[in-house]
Amino acid sequence: MTHTNQIVIDKVRKSRIDSTDFDNLTFGKTFSDHMLECTWKNGSWGDVEIKPYGPIMVEPSCKVFHYGQAIFEGMKAFKDDQDDVFLFRPADNWIRFNASAKRLAMPEVPEEIFMDGLKKLVELDKDWVRKGDGQSLYLRPFMIASENGVAAAPSTEYKFMVVMSPARAYYRGEVRVVIATSYSRAADGGVGYAKAAGNYAASFYPNNLALEEGFQQIIWTDAASHEYLEEAGTMNIFVRIGDKLLTSPHNDRILNGVTRRSVIQLAKDMGIEVEERRVSINEINEAARAGELKEMFGSGTAAVIVPIKGYKHLEFVHELPTMEHSYAERFKKELNDIQYNRTEDPHQWRVKI
Ligand code: PMP
Repeated sequence: MTHTNQIVIDKVRKSRIDSTDFDNLTFGKTFSDHMLECTWKNGSWGDVEIKPYGPIMVEPSCKVFHYGQAIFEGMKAFKDDQDDVFLFRPADNWIRFNASAKRLAMPEVPEEIFMDGLKKLVELDKDWVRKGDGQSLYLRPFMIASENGVAAAPSTEYKFMVVMSPARAYYRGEVRVVIATSYSRAADGGVGYAKAAGNYAASFYPNNLALEEGFQQIIWTDAASHEYLEEAGTMNIFVRIGDKLLTSPHNDRILNGVTRRSVIQLAKDMGIEVEERRVSINEINEAARAGELKEMFGSGTAAVIVPIKGYKHLEFVHELPTMEHSYAERFKKELNDIQYNRTEDPHQWRVKI
């Protein structure tokens, strides 16, 4: 399907950038001057509107509030020393967005709207992408059911929108996790592989219980047996046993992360042996007891790589060793170097705006 509608731009009268304190940002709280909005109605997409960031009008019967048809993506724009701005593997996010849309019975967003719209928006607000290690502009494309009415059926109207938030390096302090043994994030045949808003809503309660226990995250296991490693709340998980890197294969319960895919490729490039296979918690515990569990880390757009310091599984509590030249550090540096245009990009992951 080709989309011939236009991109209509309404610029802010006065930018808010001068009154933004870029040194004291809370993640996801400050938004750039403009946002993108495009409505799907009567079976087709309308014009892409780029306009000042601000409230949208919806009625209380708007279907998203009642049946939760809502999906999103998370991606980042980076600036190099020459002031050029890059996205990282944006087509992967577009493809995943449409896979999520399909699963939630929502219309797919054509490339011309998602990619061209996003590029235009970033270009317009490029001053909001700051230079320097750890600085980025977080992009949040999302889609909601916008038809009014409380009948439990798919909406006949949708809004695709993009908002953007300046972000700084994400340092979470030491991360300790608890491995799930009762709650589940996703099930076979469910929506785990989609970035559906409801997946996150359902994880907050068990995550609060973990926080109360002094752990920052839950590592989800398979819903059927709780015996196999799956992923974290907003990250995929890798374990290093000996020199080998292990991660769960992607399936209909796991979000196939762009960072995950990149780490697997980089590991192969670096000559590190990677296995995408089911990893049992028993195998991890045994490796921990034998001193073979060298690293555990999460991978995701927000923080790139997050080393995990320790974990709890039932009564077993384990602290990981501190590694020199850890895989986690090497992947983080290599990914950042590619993202900030400080090194070659052999896989063409950077897309210049
Ligand atoms: N799993 C979940 C559940 C997530 O929300 C995310 C963040 N998008 C990830 C994994 C990591 O995916 P990515 O590397 O594409 O950010």
